[in-house]
Amino acid sequence: MDNVNIQKINGYTVQKITDSIYAIDEFGTDIMYLVIGQEKAMLVDTGAGLGELKKTVETLTDKPVFVVNTHGHMDHAMGNREFGKAYMHEKDWNLVQKAYMTEERWRKFCLKTMKESYYAGPDLSEKPLSLPQELIPVKAGDKFDLGGMVYEVLEVPGHTPGSIVLLDSENRILIAGDAVVSTPILIFDDYSTNVEEYHRALLDLKKREDEFDLILPGHFLRPISKRYLHDLIKCAENIMDGTVDVEPEDFSHMTTAVTIKGVYGKAAIVYNEGHIRGTAI
Ligand SMILES: [Zn+2]
Repeated sequence: MDNVNIQKINGYTVQKITDSIYAIDEFGTDIMYLVIGQEKAMLVDTGAGLGELKKTVETLTDKPVFVVNTHGHMDHAMGNREFGKAYMHEKDWNLVQKAYMTEERWRKFCLKTMKESYYAGPDLSEKPLSLPQELIPVKAGDKFDLGGMVYEVLEVPGHTPGSIVLLDSENRILIAGDAVVSTPILIFDDYSTNVEEYHRALLDLKKREDEFDLILPGHFLRPISKRYLHDLIKCAENIMDGTVDVEPEDFSHMTTAVTIKGVYGKAAIVYNEGHIRGTAI
């Protein structure tokens, strides 16, 4: 049936967003995007590596596939191992290397994910940790030409120092990872930058907003509108000048630091006092 644009493949929920883009929902945990050009296909993020992603991608395209990670978090890059190599900003490489990404950290994530009400994937209790293999650096201004469409890399540090987004200005699409999402932006990890730097990066992104209509984020709702970008900018401003509205939310499963959830309109940023301005701790 040609008009069915949501299907289940190997347990993943796959939604056709445009003629050339599929959103692949990893059992409710995160969303990856497969962009199919005339010559190549680009897989943006590989999720937490919970299922058979490569097999799934191969049912959607027979073009050669390369992987780009929007950032180095384990729910975006741990499926890289099935593809061998991936493009990622160098500032996030340490997040997927042995010194940081330990068996214990991975196991904790897997077990917690399985307990979440939205999780509808395989049993991970016996799954071995497998770190991404070869990483290739990307930076602002780099372009991926898929044949008939080109994606430009823009840097949006904040959530992680190496966060990138991918802009196809001709087709007016922005693939945003965790830099612009409908769920709270988390800026409290030791390696996160700070709200001030994130705000600066969002203003740079706003300068390009005439070049996109749809934002494809790394979690939950997809696509989302530019309203999220505008509200995140205002939310960050209110955090910096101390006027932000706050809402309670417990992040103790992710950090021992005291976190604050600032909200404005559709946007929310979770931060702590050490991550508002200046050099990240
Ligand atoms: Zn993330």
